Order: sequence, then structure tokens, then C-alpha cells
Amino acid sequence: MKARKLLMIPGPIEFEPEVMLAMSIPTTSHVAPDFIDSFGNSLELMRKVWQSPSGQPFIIAGTGTLAMDLAGSNLIEAGDNALVISTGYFGERYAELLKRYGANVDILKAPLGEVVPVDKVEEKLKSKSYKLLTFTHVDTSTAVLNDPKPFGELGKKYKVLTILDGVCSVAGEEIRQDEWGIDIVLTASQKAIGVPPGLALLVASQNAIEAWKNRKTPVGNYYADWGNWLPVMEAYEARKPSYFGTPAVNLVVALETSLKIILKEGMENRFQRHRKIAKAFRSAISAMGLKMIPVSEEVAANTLSAPYYPEGVEGGSLLPEITKAGIIMAGGLLPDIKTKYFRIGHMGSVNQSDILGSVAAIESALLSCGYKIKPGIGLVAAQEILNQ
Ligand code: PMP
Repeated sequence: MKARKLLMIPGPIEFEPEVMLAMSIPTTSHVAPDFIDSFGNSLELMRKVWQSPSGQPFIIAGTGTLAMDLAGSNLIEAGDNALVISTGYFGERYAELLKRYGANVDILKAPLGEVVPVDKVEEKLKSKSYKLLTFTHVDTSTAVLNDPKPFGELGKKYKVLTILDGVCSVAGEEIRQDEWGIDIVLTASQKAIGVPPGLALLVASQNAIEAWKNRKTPVGNYYADWGNWLPVMEAYEARKPSYFGTPAVNLVVALETSLKIILKEGMENRFQRHRKIAKAFRSAISAMGLKMIPVSEEVAANTLSAPYYPEGVEGGSLLPEITKAGIIMAGGLLPDIKTKYFRIGHMGSVNQSDILGSVAAIESALLSCGYKIKPGIGLVAAQEILNQ
């Protein structure tokens, strides 16, 4: 029997074997010609995945929180007004982060499982002059999905820089950065991008770079300062050596490999696959009689799902049963309801058998916990969608 369990948490995810092989190359110098080429290629490929031909990509060793920090620290000066649209845990984190750089932060918090209506956001933007607005494309604590388009439009209308936290969405949910006019789209390597943890990734619009150039005060974070990193990104893209901080050599080579896999599938196909798999999973969950945190299909993410445990079933007993069935899923994250729900990641390399295996594992774990369902009911519902 395979000892290895299937990892179905919302990041890190299951990585493609080619990506893991790329990770295992002998580590080269960060100024070796082959590596410079990998770095330069990765920057160019990021523009395609982000659908931002005019954007400036950054690849920096760190996690998704560093990507949030890069945007926040380079764009905020003390006293600037910032508006945070929160659909869960990571919205709250952005508010805290921006305050560290002296921003006056207003936060518009969506009720649990919902998004903030666009007219509420517009009302707020009318009431005060904001330098920037942040929103989470998919909040990993609630599995709530925001539609980025209206945020891009509002950003242009009110001359506010828009930041999309795409840590749980880039390369899984549809993103068209240039067309939608989003100034920053940021992510981390370990989710739908499909590379082990350790890279902060971000594409900035020329508008955002201009705003950074026009700062009156130095960036309040030495490591994150674009003044240190922009020349490095420009040099690698021109296939020239450069240095500020040692790049994560093996991770960058793995990134190049993964971005090529993503583009080979094609962005439209990839978005479609994520939508179909997520819809099948939600249909199975609902057939098993479980409720989800997102209140409707329109606001439900395609990269992860967050179902509540049913009456009479505790997470403490369900998750170990799921693990026994060979699949690792995640518990809740939102502090107030942490023990009431669980999370299943379905992004990146996820395929039909991963999702059917996950549904089967949940079904049998529910049965073991004494929850009464007809065996196979979730599988039938999922297959109806997958076979369409
Ligand atoms: N934003 C979102 C939406 C996330 O899901 C995460 C990670 N789960 C982060 C930010 C932070 O990323 P990291 O853990 O890589 O710092």
C-alpha cells in the first residue's frame, strides 16, 4: 500500500513531479548563465500567467506575507489613507500590516460567508481620499471569492491603487490584471502556482511603480524596498547578473518549470478545470447534507472549499478518519468558528480522481463518525458534474 497521503489542504499543495525534479538540480551560482536565464524566463512567464503584459514582475525569497508586505511597504507612506475590504482572516492581516507603515486604515468587513457589496465600497471611496485599496481574491479562511473587476473599475474612477491578495487564487481563479486594471496582483509559490513554499511573487502595474517613485519618504522596510529589487529584476530580464539578496536558486528553477506547465495547459483551460472540479466538489458536499461558509455559488471559491461539520460530528473525530482514508485536509482557521468547519484545497495540479477520492474519504469518515448518509451519494453528485 502507498504510504504517502494525498495532500488536499489549501497550500502547500501536491506538486508536479517535474517541478520536484527541477528542485533537485545541483544548486548553481545565482549569477551562472543558466540560472540568469531561468530567472529571466520566469519573469517573462509570470506576465503571461498574470495576463499583465505591461506589469513589472518581482520574484523574491519569502512567503505570501512578504508579497503583501512588498506592496504595503512600497506604496504606503505615514499618514496615507488605506481601505481594506475583508472577507476573512487575511483581510484582517492586511489591515494590521498597513498600520505598521503608518497608514490610516479603514476596514469594510463582509458578514461571514459574504462579500462587501460594490456600492458599499464605492460609498466609502466617495467619502474620503484613499491612496490604496486591498481585497482578497479568495480568502483561505472562508473560501469566499471576490470578483476583482469592479475593484479595478473603482480604482480607476477614484484614482486609488488596487491590491489583489491572490495568494489563494493566482493560476487557479481567473485573473486578467491589465484588462481589469488591478495595480498589484500578489501571491506565493506554494498554492496554485505549484512550487514548494518559499517564493513571494508579485506583478506591479506601471502606475504602482510610478506611485513608489513619487514617494517623499524612504520605504520603511529595508528588505522589501523596490529600490533594492527593481534593478535586480530588470537585470535578470536583460539576462545580466545582479545581486541584492541571494535568490532561492532551486525554487526559481522550479518556478520556471511550473509556469511552463501552467501555460502549456493554457489559462482558460486551467480556470475552467478549477471551476468544474470545485463545482463537482460543492455539489457532493451539498448532497451529503453539509453546509458551506460561502452563502452562494457566486461567492464560492474554486481553489478551496470550507464546509461546516454536520450536527453531531466533531472535527476532532472527522479529520483523523479522513486521514485514515489516505487524505490530508485542513481544519478551520477563522478564530471564532475554528472548530466548526474544515477546509479542502483543490487547486494547481488537482485532477478528477483527487476530488473523487476526497469525496469518498469524507463520506466514509462521516459514516464512521455515526452520521447517517446513503453511501455513494456524494460521489454520484460529483460525477454528474464531472461527466458533463
Ligand atoms: N493571503 C492569503 C489569501 C493566504 O491564503 C495566505 C496563506 N494561507 C497568505 C496571504 C499568507 O501567505 P503565507 O502563509 O505564504 O505567508
